[in-house]
Amino acid sequence: MKLFTTQQIRDWDAFTIANEPIDSIDLMERAASRLTDWYYENCERYNDITFFCGIGNNGGDGLVMARLLHLMNFKVKCYIVHFSDKISEDFKQNLSRLPKNIQCYDIKEENDLPTIEEDTVIVDCIFGSGLSRPPKGITQQTIIEINKSNNPVIAIDIASGLYADHYSTHFQTIVEADITLTLEVPKLAMLFPENDKNVGELNIIPIELSKKFKEETPSNYFFTTHKNVQQIYRPRKRFDHKGKFGNLLIVGGSKGMIGAVQLATKAGLRAGAGKTTALVPACGYEIIQATIPEAMCISDPSRNHIVASTLVSKYSAIGIGPGIGQHEQTQKAVRSIIEDAEKPIVLDADALNMLSKNEEWWSLLPKNSILTPHVGEFERLAGIQFINSFDRLEAASKMAQDCEVIVVLKGANTAICLPNGQIHFNSTGNAGLAKGGSGDALLGIISSLLAQKYKPYEAAILGVYLHGKAGDYASAEKGFESMVASDVIENLGKAFFELLK
Ligand code: ADP
Ligand code: ADP
Ligand code: MG
Repeated sequence: MKLFTTQQIRDWDAFTIANEPIDSIDLMERAASRLTDWYYENCERYNDITFFCGIGNNGGDGLVMARLLHLMNFKVKCYIVHFSDKISEDFKQNLSRLPKNIQCYDIKEENDLPTIEEDTVIVDCIFGSGLSRPPKGITQQTIIEINKSNNPVIAIDIASGLYADHYSTHFQTIVEADITLTLEVPKLAMLFPENDKNVGELNIIPIELSKKFKEETPSNYFFTTHKNVQQIYRPRKRFDHKGKFGNLLIVGGSKGMIGAVQLATKAGLRAGAGKTTALVPACGYEIIQATIPEAMCISDPSRNHIVASTLVSKYSAIGIGPGIGQHEQTQKAVRSIIEDAEKPIVLDADALNMLSKNEEWWSLLPKNSILTPHVGEFERLAGIQFINSFDRLEAASKMAQDCEVIVVLKGANTAICLPNGQIHFNSTGNAGLAKGGSGDALLGIISSLLAQKYKPYEAAILGVYLHGKAGDYASAEKGFESMVASDVIENLGKAFFELLK
C-alpha cells in the first residue's frame, strides 16, 4: 500500500471528485458512513457519544457521523470548535442537515468549554490532516480539556494537533486518542513511537478514493499489506527438490551466546532453506548438533569465539552476527567473510557493531546486502543519536541509498529502507517481540529467504512481515509477556499458510 503526504491526500480527494461520479459532499457522506459502520461494528455498546468538530472538512465528517449515529439511535451531542472564520462549504451544508433534536453547541471562548460527562465516548474531529500550525487559543484549550478527561477518545483521520507528515513538537496540544480511524491510508506520523499516545490503536478505513490516482502518483513510502507480500511469496511446486531452496550459512555464537545462533539456525530452517549450516565456536558444536538435527554444523578451531572464516562461495546466502561477540580475532574472521562474499549477505547484532567501528568495511560489503539494526545499532552505525524518528528514518534511507545496502530499521512498524529510496513499513508484529532472541529469529528468516533466491528487497520485506505475523500468532497463544522467540519460530508455518489465503 502506497502512503501519501498531506498534500498528496488533498490532491487525491480533489482528483476523485473531478474524475469519478461523486461530489465533494457525497464523498464526505461516504467517508462518514464507513466510519459510522466501524463504530457500529466495534463500539455498539457505547451508546453515548460526544463529537468535537472543527469547522473544516474533518469537522464535516464528524457532523455526518453524528447524524448517521443519531438515526441509529445512539445518543449524540456536538460541540463546534471555531478555530477560525473560514468555515468549509461541506461543513456548512452538513450543519444544516443536522437534525434539530441533536444538541449542538458552539465553542468560541473559554466560557463555552463544556464539562465532559463521565460516560460518553469522545469523537475528535477538530483538525484532520489539514493542520498547518500548532493549535492555539480556544482550540488548544479544548484539546487540553479532552486530554484531561478520562473518557475514551476516537480520533477521526488523525488526532487533532498531530502533524501528519512531520515532527510535532507541541506535545501538550495534541489530542491523546485511544483509537484512530484514519481514512484510506495511514499517515507517516502514525508509524512512529513518539506519537503512540496520540494515535492509540490504529485502524484504516477505506473510502474508495480514486484507484487511478493511487497508481499514477509516485511515492517512496509504502505500508506492507497481506496482498503485497502475497505477490512476493512463491509457494512450492509439486516436483520441487531441496536443491532449489539454497544452501544457507548462519555464522554466530560465542561462549554464553550459543542460543542466539541456535535460534537463527532454527528460524532459517523453518523459513524454508534447502540446507542450513551453522558455523559456531567449538563450545557450540555439540549444542547445535544435539538440538537441531536438521542442521549441519561447522566447528570453529577456537573454543569460545569464532576466529576462522570458511569457504563462503558454497553458500547461496550467509547471515552473520547472532551472539557472535566482538573479539578482535572474531572481527578478523567476519571481515574476511564479508570480503570473500560475492552475493549480498545479512548482518545483525555485533556484526553491525563491528561495521560501526571499521569504516573501511563498507566498501567490502556486496551491494544490496541487508543490515538489520535496532535503533541503538543503527545510531552506532550512523554515528549520531536522533531525537526524533523522522530524522532517524531519513538517515537510514540515506544510508541505504549512499551505501547501496538495505537497512531494516527494527522496532514496531519496522522500516525497510531500499537503495532506490523506497521505504516499506511493516504492518505485522507486536510488543511481545520485545524480548531477547526475536532479532536472531529475524536474521535467520531473512537469510533463509535470500538463500531461496528471493531478491534481497523481497527477502527483507517478506521476512519482516512473516516474522511479525508469526509473532502475532505466538502472542495469541502465549500472551505478549510470555511468548519467546522459539514460539515465534514455531509459528512461522502458520504465517506462511496465511499467505496462501
Ligand atoms: P481540511 O483542510 O480538509 O478542511 P481540516 O478539517 O483539518 O481539513 O481543516 C483544517 C483547516 O484549518 C485548514 O483550512 C487549515 O488551513 C486550517 N488550519 C490548519 N491548522 C490550523 C490551526 N492550528 N489553527 C487554525 N486553523 C488551522
Ligand atoms: P534481539 O537482538 O534481542 O534478538 P532485536 O532488538 O535485535 O532483539 O530484535 C527485536 C525484534 O523484535 C525486531 O524484529 C523488532 O522489530 C521486533 N520488535 C521489538 N519490539 C517490537 C514492538 N514493540 N512491536 C513490534 N515488533 C517489535
Ligand atoms: Mg538483535
